[in-house]
Amino acid sequence: MSDYIGRFAPSPTGPLHAGSLVAAMASYLDAKAHHGQWLVRIEDVDEVRTVTGAAESILLALAACGMQWDGEPVWQSRRTDLYAAAFARLHTHTYACGCTRREIADSRVGIAADGAALYPGTCRNGLARGKIPRTFRLRVPAANELDECICVEDRWVGTVTQHLATEVGDFVLKRADGIWAYQLAVVVDDAAQGVTDVVRGMDLLDSTARQIYLQRLLQLPTPHYLHVPVVVNAIGEKLSKQTGAMALNVSRPLTALHSAAQFLGLALPEAGSIDDFWRQAIAAWRLRLAG
Ligand SMILES: [Zn+2]
Repeated sequence: MSDYIGRFAPSPTGPLHAGSLVAAMASYLDAKAHHGQWLVRIEDVDEVRTVTGAAESILLALAACGMQWDGEPVWQSRRTDLYAAAFARLHTHTYACGCTRREIADSRVGIAADGAALYPGTCRNGLARGKIPRTFRLRVPAANELDECICVEDRWVGTVTQHLATEVGDFVLKRADGIWAYQLAVVVDDAAQGVTDVVRGMDLLDSTARQIYLQRLLQLPTPHYLHVPVVVNAIGEKLSKQTGAMALNVSRPLTALHSAAQFLGLALPEAGSIDDFWRQAIAAWRLRLAG
C-alpha cells in the first residue's frame, strides 16, 4: 500500500450514468495503478439538488461494476460542522454580501470562467445602508498581491493559470439559503480525508484555482490534480441527469466498463470477467499515466 489516497465524489442528483462512470473509473484506475486507497464521498451538501435514493443507487452501481471503495463512504451533509469551522478560520478574508443575482448581472463587470456574472465587489468594504446580508464571499487577491494568479499543474492537461480577480471574482462560501459552497466543502473534505490525488472530470478544472487558494488560506496541502475529459451528449452538453443521461445498465456492467475505458483512450482486449477487465485496465492506465 502506498501513501496515495484518491476519491470519487459524486453528487447524488441521479443514478450513475455513462459520464459519471468515466470519472469514477479514472479515479479508481489511478488509485489502483498507484497501489493506493480509493474513497467514495457523497457530495450531498447541496440538499436542494439531492435526490432521495440516488446515493444508494450510485453505490450499488459501483459495486456491480466491481469498484470496491476503501472504508465507509463519507456524506457531506453530515459534515457541516467542519465547513463552519473552516469558514470561521477564514473570517479575515470573508465578508457579507447583500447583492441579489439580478444586481450582480446588471453590473456587467464581466463573465467569469464558469459563465456566471463576475461579482463587482460592491459589498467588499461593508454593506450599503439598507442592504441585508445574503451570502458570504471570499475576497480574492487584488493586483500585485500574493496568489493573484494561481497555477494548476494538471497531470492530464498540463499547466493552467487562472487570474482570480478577473476570471473568478470574490466567490461565495456560504449561500443565501445557508448552504456551504461546493468549493469550501471539497477543500475541507479532501484535506480531512488525506486525499493526495484528485482525479475528476474536466468540468471541474475551472474551480481548481479557487480550491488551491482556499487550501493556502487554510494552510492545507494541495493534492495532485488530474482532470479527464467529460462525456457530452449530441449537442455538446456534459452528460448528466438534467441533460438526459440514461442510468447505467448494471445488469451488463462489462459493456458499460468497456465503453468508459474506450472513452478514456484505453485500448483493451475483450474481457471475460469483471476481474479480468480491471486487471487489464489498471495495467493499461499504469503504462499510460502513472509512469
Ligand atoms: Zn454584494
